[in-house]
Amino acid sequence: MAVSDKPVPVRLGIDIGGTKCAVCIGTAAGRILARREIPTGAGRPPEAVLEELAELARALIDEERVVPEGIGVSCGGPLDRERGLVLSPPNLPGWDATPVGAFLEAAFPGVPVALENDANATALAEWRWGAGIGARHMIYLTQGTGIGGGLILDGRLYHGANDMAGEVGHHCVAPDGPMCNCGMRGCLEAVASGPAIARAASERLRTDGADRTSLASFRSRMDDLTARDVVQAGHAGDPLAVRVLDEAGTYLGMGIANLVQILNPEVVVVGTIAVHAGDLVLGPARRAMAAHAWPRAAGICRIVPAALGDRAQDLAAIAIAAADHGAAA
Ligand SMILES: [Zn+2]
Repeated sequence: MAVSDKPVPVRLGIDIGGTKCAVCIGTAAGRILARREIPTGAGRPPEAVLEELAELARALIDEERVVPEGIGVSCGGPLDRERGLVLSPPNLPGWDATPVGAFLEAAFPGVPVALENDANATALAEWRWGAGIGARHMIYLTQGTGIGGGLILDGRLYHGANDMAGEVGHHCVAPDGPMCNCGMRGCLEAVASGPAIARAASERLRTDGADRTSLASFRSRMDDLTARDVVQAGHAGDPLAVRVLDEAGTYLGMGIANLVQILNPEVVVVGTIAVHAGDLVLGPARRAMAAHAWPRAAGICRIVPAALGDRAQDLAAIAIAAADHGAAA
């Protein structure tokens, strides 16, 4: 077989995060060929970050001897997809109506640029190459510092009227619950995110006492307690941690039941904490979904952990490149 010198068609993925950014080159089949990352740098002007990312991308393209057929940019929302603008995401101070799309179109003439919020982009990647493969209707939730998500409906990423669809963390599951960062009370995020789990564990340490828990050492330094500590203690069978995770999982399942009643998905993919906690969170979530959704809808819906792990962010950017949000490539 002759070895061809013809450049391989690939996609360029750019992930813009609050602490770091990454550039990667991947194939339409979801294989990452090369990647680099840089610190975003708090307070750096967006233009400087974008310029550095473009230089990094050019270097990767030269090294790999490839020609990108599309560029995908995954970034925290809100954003204006049509106009390629990043609109002041909380994790990127100073990125106010930043024309990321226009910048990259100028830097790489003739290559289409697609911009997508990171949760939607990750939903697309999990659907193409991860835990949602083969589903026609899939909901993705990321259970981390916040709860975000994306909807794959009828084999397409669903955006809604103005890119606001898929905010699965911000609907009420606990009317008397804590205030949410978004300003509403009792959102799913306020009772089932990482900080919510840490806060619930702290409250239990105060009210239930700390005699029989391995988390007792946190009593004098509650601010240090994280969801990760709670999950770790839960895996070791710590009763306080198991109870806190059970409650968070139950709220998660109630939230999922609401989504299942309305959207009737085949699979709900849950990322981040659910991946580490496994059945400590997903067990109660499955029970709560079964209790709060109609059997016919709940019966065909699986709740599964996300599958892409630390490849998710790169693949998210690759998934949206070339703007073929429809049928799987
Ligand atoms: Zn909220």
